[in-house]
Amino acid sequence: MSGEFNLIETYFVGRQTQRCDVLLAAGDDCALVEAPSGYSIAISTDTLVSGTHFLANANPGWVAHKALASNISDLAAMGATPAWVSFALTMPEVDEEWLAPFCDRFFALADQYGIQLIGGDTTKGPLSLTLTVQGLVPKGEALRRDGAKEGDEIYVTGSLGDSQAGLDVILNPTNAGKPNARVLEQRHYLSSPRIKVGEALRGIASAAIDISDGVVSDLGHILKRSSVGAEVDVEKLPVSAQLVEFVASRESALQYALISGEEYELCFTVPEAKREAMWQALADVDCVITRIGQINNSGTLTLTKDGQAISWQLSGYDHFKSN
Ligand code: ADP
Ligand code: MG
Repeated sequence: MSGEFNLIETYFVGRQTQRCDVLLAAGDDCALVEAPSGYSIAISTDTLVSGTHFLANANPGWVAHKALASNISDLAAMGATPAWVSFALTMPEVDEEWLAPFCDRFFALADQYGIQLIGGDTTKGPLSLTLTVQGLVPKGEALRRDGAKEGDEIYVTGSLGDSQAGLDVILNPTNAGKPNARVLEQRHYLSSPRIKVGEALRGIASAAIDISDGVVSDLGHILKRSSVGAEVDVEKLPVSAQLVEFVASRESALQYALISGEEYELCFTVPEAKREAMWQALADVDCVITRIGQINNSGTLTLTKDGQAISWQLSGYDHFKSN
């Protein structure tokens, strides 16, 4: 991109205090970092494409938050502590009115989570953001998807469904007049990755995942990788009062909670024997934790409501039906 170097210097370099494990940040051919002994490095990459993951006219600060938060959330799901991020930016032209608020918000969130931008790439093309985040986790303590066992309890953080409601507002202006429309729109963009929860669950959770595709789908990944089944009580899914008002019934809110993606909450499993240890470890973490079900050996996911198994269409929006 012409003027790339100036753009990088202006917007991306020297915006943060240097972490002591960063030997060399942006400016050379590679960044140099040093992992402490006894730690593994957790690495994840995610791309956000304009028109697919955010609308071209979306608030650039909110887009920055969504891009970085969704990547940090993957570190949370592994129980890793954020350390370094690389950022590949593709944009049609240098748009300073977009870049300035984007970068302000990007670095504010990066500082909040202690993650340093160490490099990237800048190219011309349709607007797209690719981030690679790296975090540190003590060897052998990473939270994986494949450790859930029969009898383990299933928990989620925060509340579910708000992100889908926010998307309804973003995609369909007729929803803007519904109660809490603006709050829910912001919830869609401005999630709070659950790093503190992930760190606290090291050595306690048997499996974990972050909710990017909807709890049914993401819990399904844990079940598949762990070769187990589960029963989830739909009535237990945590929903916000704002969402219930927006969709006008608790019933609809629960349906949103089941399928809502891009929540960036955690879904995790804990052996019964570690339940007390879990609550102790989470005592100082400012996050609501809700038990929603239990792992079994059925090999399938059963949703129950009022004690009855319900049928579930993966398309999601169908009304609940009794078997
Ligand atoms: P190269 O041609 O070696 O890939 P670049 O001109 O692409 O080098 O980048 C120069 C330096 O600026 C590198 O250290 C790179 O990591 C950094 N950089 C480029 N784009 C970004 C960006 N969007 N954010 C942070 N650092 C960047
Ligand atoms: Mg380059």
